[in-house]
Amino acid sequence: MGMYDTLCEVPVKCPRCGDESVKKVKIWNGPKDIFGEGFVFGKDKILMDWDSGYPGSLIAKEEWKDNGKIRGEAMCSKCEDRVDKKYEEIREGYEIAGKIKCPEHPSILLACKIDGENAAWVIQNDLDKIYGGSYWDESHFDVAITIKDSVAVEVEVLKR
Ligand SMILES: [Zn+2]
Repeated sequence: MGMYDTLCEVPVKCPRCGDESVKKVKIWNGPKDIFGEGFVFGKDKILMDWDSGYPGSLIAKEEWKDNGKIRGEAMCSKCEDRVDKKYEEIREGYEIAGKIKCPEHPSILLACKIDGENAAWVIQNDLDKIYGGSYWDESHFDVAITIKDSVAVEVEVLKR
């Protein structure tokens, strides 16, 4: 969804695994400071650009202040590890079955094929089936971030 900023150290509990460690959250209504190290939740001032973002990324805005609520995408690294492990398991399964066909010097799985299809794509498809939807959603979730005086001060999990 185009350029974004990263909010760091966001205190939100993963709705899937319950992990309570701080998370990284992508936001689309910031300055798009792509070379920056991200903004620290509850601390850094964010130069907000309320009109940027994507349809739906702005939830609310107070007219005359730099206060409002935006949508963000949080990532749970515990869930991502879990999905990565499953990916590896599936890949190994295909490998043991002798189903992965690669060019002579494969550098990446993308160059290989399973039953004539792109191997990475086949495995991602298998993951989607296992998780009953997009495997991406297994480790990412939507949050609402409250911005007060240009600082991210509150976070809540949004239901899909
Ligand atoms: Zn999680």
